[in-house]
Amino acid sequence: MNQKKSSLLTRREFLRCSALLAGAAFLSTLRSVVPAPIQKRTQDSPTVIFIVADALRADHVSAYGYSTPTTPNLDKWVAAHGARFTQATSPAPWTYPASAAMMTGRSPTQLTANWETRTLPMDVTTLAEYLHFSGYYTAGFASTSFLGGEYGFARGFDIYDDWVAHNHKTSTSGGAAVINDHVFTWFKNTWNGLTQPLFLFLYYSDPHSWYYPPTPYDTLYDPNYIGELTPESYGNGQAAMAGTKVPVVRDLQHLLSLYDGEITFWDYHIGQMFTFLQQQGLLEHALIVVTSDHGELFGENGMWVHGNCLYEEVLRIPLLLRYSGVVPAGSVVDTPAQNMDIMPTILDFLDITYSPEIQGVSLAPVLEEQISPTISSSRSTYSELDKVTDPQHWAYAIAPRTDLRCIQRDGWKLIHHVDHPEDDELYFLNSESVYETENLIHENPALAQELRQLLWDWFQLPSTASSPYTTERVLPEAKLGQFQALQRSPNPRPSPETGNFWRGWFSGRPHTKLRAKGGSSVPR
Ligand SMILES: [Zn+2]
Repeated sequence: MNQKKSSLLTRREFLRCSALLAGAAFLSTLRSVVPAPIQKRTQDSPTVIFIVADALRADHVSAYGYSTPTTPNLDKWVAAHGARFTQATSPAPWTYPASAAMMTGRSPTQLTANWETRTLPMDVTTLAEYLHFSGYYTAGFASTSFLGGEYGFARGFDIYDDWVAHNHKTSTSGGAAVINDHVFTWFKNTWNGLTQPLFLFLYYSDPHSWYYPPTPYDTLYDPNYIGELTPESYGNGQAAMAGTKVPVVRDLQHLLSLYDGEITFWDYHIGQMFTFLQQQGLLEHALIVVTSDHGELFGENGMWVHGNCLYEEVLRIPLLLRYSGVVPAGSVVDTPAQNMDIMPTILDFLDITYSPEIQGVSLAPVLEEQISPTISSSRSTYSELDKVTDPQHWAYAIAPRTDLRCIQRDGWKLIHHVDHPEDDELYFLNSESVYETENLIHENPALAQELRQLLWDWFQLPSTASSPYTTERVLPEAKLGQFQALQRSPNPRPSPETGNFWRGWFSGRPHTKLRAKGGSSVPR
C-alpha cells in the first residue's frame, strides 16, 4: 500500500490492547472499558470518515446512473475522487442486523442480530474499538434508535452522540441538519483541542420513511402534484403493506419524489459537512466511505419499505470509497461487496490487524488494483432475514413467516425458504436486469442444489432435503412489468397515460407480500 500509518499501534501492541480489553470486559458486563488513547495524531494517519444514509437505494443515487440529480455532492466529493462498487449488497434488509454487521464485520447470524435482539455481543470488537485502541479519537453521531448507545454501538467511541436517535424521530423533517449542528458544535467545543487522528462516524436517517423532506425539497421533484398522498398518509407504509391504501401510479410518482427529495436534502447536508471538514484540513488525507444499511421497496412484488424480503430492491446499496493517493479516482469496481466488508477494508488500509473470525473481507487489494486470493468476481455473498410468527410481535406486519437466506454467486441468486424449500427461488442477475425477473429454479435444479449447499454451509443450516421439489411446477407469479419498469428506470417518472393499473391489480386480491414467486400460491 502506498500510504500506511506509522504512528498507530503495531500488531503486537494491538494484541496487547486486545488482552486489556478482554480483561476489562470480564470486569464489566455492561460496557467495554476503554483505556486512554496511547498514540498522538500525526500527519501520516488519515482521517477516517464513515457515512451511512439509512434506506438509500443504489439506483436512486446519481453516481449510480439515476437520471434525477439526487446526489450532486456525493458525486462531487466522493465518487469523482474515489471508487464506486456496482455490486454492493447488504447482509440484511433492515437497520439493526445490517448496521451490526457494518460495525463489526460479522454476519447477522454470527452476531445473533435478529428481530429478538437489539444489543451487540460483548465479545465482539467493534470498528470504533479497533480504531480507538489504535490511537484514533473516535466520534460517532447516530440518528436511529437501533444504533442507540445502550445497544452497544457506543463501544469504542470517545464521544457517541445519539441525541438525534432518541429525540428526532424519522417522522420528523430535517434530521441531517440536526446531526450536522451537533457535529459542528462538537468540533468547536472539543475537537480543536485534540491532537489524535480522527474517526468520524455519521449515521443519517433522512431517506428512511417517513419521506418528509423540508421545504423546498418536498416539492423539488414533483411541484405540480395535487393528489392526496402526503408524508403523513403514507407514514411507514403500513396501509400500503396491508393492502388497504395502496398508492396509485400518480401517487407513487409523488411518493418517489418525496423519497428523492429526502435524498437530495441529505446530500445537501453532506456537502455542507465535506466543506466544513475541508476547512478544518481533514479531507486532504482522508479515507471516506459512504454507504447505506439497506435499500427500499416502492411496490415491487407488492411490497413496500423494507425488512420483508431478500429481493434486490432492499439489498442493493451504494458503496463509495475515497482515499486519494491510494484508490484511483473515478474507479468502478464490479467485484461483489457487502457493507460488512467496510470494517476489514478500513483496518487493512490502516494496517491494523483484525480478528480472523471477521467474515467480511478487505476490499483494499481490489481497490488498489491488486489480485486478491480472498475476493474475486466469483465470490459468494450472503444475506438473511428471520421470520416472525407471533401476531403480537412488533415486527409481525413487516417480517416474513419463514426464515429467508440467500446466496449470490456468478450472477446467480438463490433465495432459500428455510422452512419451505419447495418455495426456493433462483434468478439470474446481470447488467440487463439487476433485479429478479424470472424464477428459473425448475430449469436449473442442479445449480440450485449446489448453491443451496453453499448456503447451508455458510449459515450452518442442516441439510434438510436433497431435493425439495415435491410439488408440480407452478409458473412464476406474473410480475408488474409496467409498474416495475417505473421503479427500476433510471428516471422513474410515469407518464400520465400509465393510468391506474396498480389499484386494479390489487383489487380483490389478498395481500401477497409474503408469497413466494414460483412456489406455493398460499400466502403465509
Ligand atoms: Zn435502515
